[in-house]
Amino acid sequence: MMDDKFAGHRKKMVETQLISRDIKDQKVLDAFYRVPRHLFVSLEMRSQAYEDYPLPIAHNQTISQPYIVALMTQSLGLKGGEKVLDIGTGSGYQTAILAEIASHVYTVERHRLLSETAAEVLNELGYKNISYKIGDGTKGWPEEAPFEGILVAAAAIRLPEPLLEQLANNSTMIIPVGDLQQQELLSIKKDNEGNISKEKIVGCRFLPLIGAE
Ligand code: SAH
Repeated sequence: MMDDKFAGHRKKMVETQLISRDIKDQKVLDAFYRVPRHLFVSLEMRSQAYEDYPLPIAHNQTISQPYIVALMTQSLGLKGGEKVLDIGTGSGYQTAILAEIASHVYTVERHRLLSETAAEVLNELGYKNISYKIGDGTKGWPEEAPFEGILVAAAAIRLPEPLLEQLANNSTMIIPVGDLQQQELLSIKKDNEGNISKEKIVGCRFLPLIGAE
């Protein structure tokens, strides 16, 4: 990807916010070195794009803090080449990070404007391995299932059943679960026989997932 005046900011972000914490997966770090985060926020926010906090995007939504995006991605445990489902496209930043590692990313967003804006930026950057859908992500994308990784960027009150069903065997789903006050980022794994296990990664605070499930 082309070089730009924020390359230095990006390198510093990776070193001081990711490596210095617990992000060790080189595929994830490489993705963060490459994806120009400033292009996913408004012009006014660009100078803050590489700071250690979330930023506002349209429709009162936010682009998560870089570390949280990295932690969620690392927790997916992708080896490279997987088919991944991304719920809550938002700015498209997380989608880009996933598209750097996965072979194809299917991303669902309920707000048309957010989805279209994200698609424009991602197309401009040259990503050809992303499919977009406007709709309720709690229903997943049944036509394209199963997925070898599912990442949900908004908090669910409970685990959406369709997403569990659409998770392939030997695959992981990362999803924040809880109410507005208290949430846990969960890693849900399906083993090779289809058995489900859950593990808490960290306490967190995401905006709510709004949908049927
Ligand atoms: N991954 C995004 C973060 C977006 S914040 C990024 O990197 O910028 C969470 C997003 O989930 C918001 O854009 C919100 O509109 C969307 N969302 C909430 N409920 C949803 C649902 N049921 N289906 C699809 N998208 C949903």
